[in-house]
Parts: sequence; structure tokens; C-alpha cells
Amino acid sequence: MIRSIDELGRFVIPKEIRKNMNLVTGDLLQLELINNSDDLLLVISKEESIAQCLGCGAYCRSNDNFCSNCGLYLKEDPTLK
Ligand SMILES: [Zn+2]
Repeated sequence: MIRSIDELGRFVIPKEIRKNMNLVTGDLLQLELINNSDDLLLVISKEESIAQCLGCGAYCRSNDNFCSNCGLYLKEDPTLK
């Protein structure tokens, strides 16, 4: 499957793939770049367990310890201090 990217960096995930991944409007997607010998692969996965960083508001995996955007420790609850 080949898709073009627009001037803002967007592309459309084909309907059959959205259906296969059970994606609906508002779902969050995790994007990862993976080195595969000479190729860089973009892997897109549906993010099911999301935590929002209290520091910067970024969405992170709820099983990550640190925010991928600002590095804040995610398990820390400032209301418990
Ligand atoms: Zn953050």
C-alpha cells in the first residue's frame, strides 16, 4: 500500500487497516521508529493504556515511569506529599 503525505506531514490510514486495528476517531496512536538493518520502519500501534503527564500534559504509556516529552516521573502523585 502506498500513500502520499501532505504538506503538514499527514497521511490517511486506509479504511481496511483502521477496521483491522479497530481504530475509531479520537484513538491515540503510538509511533515508533525501528532500525531494521538498512531501513527505518515506522510502526504504528493503538495505544490502549494512556496516562497524561501532570507536568506538560503529554500523553504517555501508563506503564512508563517517565514522561517521554518532559522526563517527569509519572508515578509520582504530588497530592500525596
Ligand atoms: Zn511531561
